[in-house]
Amino acid sequence: MIIRDCLAALPGEDEPRQVSIRVREGRFERIAPLIASEPGEAVVEARGLVLLPGAIDPHVHFDEPGFTHREDFHHGTMEAAKGGVTTVIDMPCTSLPPVTNRLALEGKLAAIRGRAVVDYALFGGVEGGSVESSLAGAMAELAGGVVGFKSYFISGMETFKRVSHADFPRIVAEGAALGRPILLHAEDLDYVTAATARVKTRRGSSKAEWSDYAESRAEPAELAAVATALALARGHEASLHIVHVGTAEAARSATAAGATCETCAHYLAFTRDDFPRLGASLKTAPVVKSTHEREGLWALLAEGKIGFVASDHAPAPEAEKNTGDIWTAYGGIPGTGTMFPYLISEAWLSGRLGLRRFLEASSGAAAARYGLDARKGSVAAGKDADFVLVDPDGTTRIEGRRLLSKGRITPFEGMELKGRIESTWVRGTCVFDVHNFDKNMDSSDRSGILVEPGFGAYLTWGYR
Ligand SMILES: [Zn+2]
Repeated sequence: MIIRDCLAALPGEDEPRQVSIRVREGRFERIAPLIASEPGEAVVEARGLVLLPGAIDPHVHFDEPGFTHREDFHHGTMEAAKGGVTTVIDMPCTSLPPVTNRLALEGKLAAIRGRAVVDYALFGGVEGGSVESSLAGAMAELAGGVVGFKSYFISGMETFKRVSHADFPRIVAEGAALGRPILLHAEDLDYVTAATARVKTRRGSSKAEWSDYAESRAEPAELAAVATALALARGHEASLHIVHVGTAEAARSATAAGATCETCAHYLAFTRDDFPRLGASLKTAPVVKSTHEREGLWALLAEGKIGFVASDHAPAPEAEKNTGDIWTAYGGIPGTGTMFPYLISEAWLSGRLGLRRFLEASSGAAAARYGLDARKGSVAAGKDADFVLVDPDGTTRIEGRRLLSKGRITPFEGMELKGRIESTWVRGTCVFDVHNFDKNMDSSDRSGILVEPGFGAYLTWGYR
């Protein structure tokens, strides 16, 4: 197949370049100004369209097996495909059982086999209460099948326990020995517990407001957790990765010490001032912060100090999301399908990031961090032909009822974005085409999806 006359975003270049690209057996074979087609060879005319590497979403909760009323691999990966994501990495903590040992990993792989429409890798988990068995061999047994290990200083789930400060240094050392990053949800339990009690007491019997939730997990909750993590990981900082940072200073101190971090599209797009307008649709943990923090995150992302952007995709049905109570409303949003359209518009087309940093932030850096960059993360000969074709003059309007996710409640509702993803391709096969997308679809639909569930392949560290 030849993609003819596209404007390709090639690694290390400052502007897209007009080229033709031959794809053979699922990989980019040749990138050149002109390629003559062979007899019978398929040609995709792409003049005027930008070809970007497919996004990597390195932080999703697809909840299968266990909590599939919220999300499952089929819906989650369809939503990813619609949003230009060609590889997702799924979290271990929102499956039942959580992926903390070899048996649980095998159960998870059996449950999701035949479900995905884009490629996927998995994280393992280390939780409090099973640290001794994890260190005694569970992490080593899992390492071949996962691209990192997730842990929490504060856990939102009864089914996945936080790790103690005393256990954390041993976990990071084990991650370093195995060559896998340790991912940390960095909010300080002591801070959040006490601040929550304080705002609840102050509010008394009157109805809680969203500012109470924001205050209960304010900036110091992240600053304290990152400082603690760095102190406990000393000597192995390079193995530490702080997930979904919402506080710029926390990201700055993490990277200054040699750790890595990610932020999410919602921390770049929203602040706590948006709660009166958006309510529960904006509830996440960590919580969105001030405008000052949001601007700080953008600056760090442009500098490369925040390596990449993830979605933290974690939807919930209406009944769990809109409980009418800020404390019980489910914390999490469907983000895997909105992240890349948001970044195409607000990071790249708006000029907040140059092309190089935009490509790193949306695919290249995550591929490198999680051992997938031999075949994923950029448009280069020999790599998997994972890409999107984008009409830079088109527009995208986000509407919850059109998400292919099981979750339809999004803080991005109604947002108008520059650029439109025309199609998404995984290993040279078109998995989503916007022209096949029925705007009147309902959520049970697989509108625009052109491959059967099971097309998506399972990737492990060092995939080549
Ligand atoms: Zn998460």
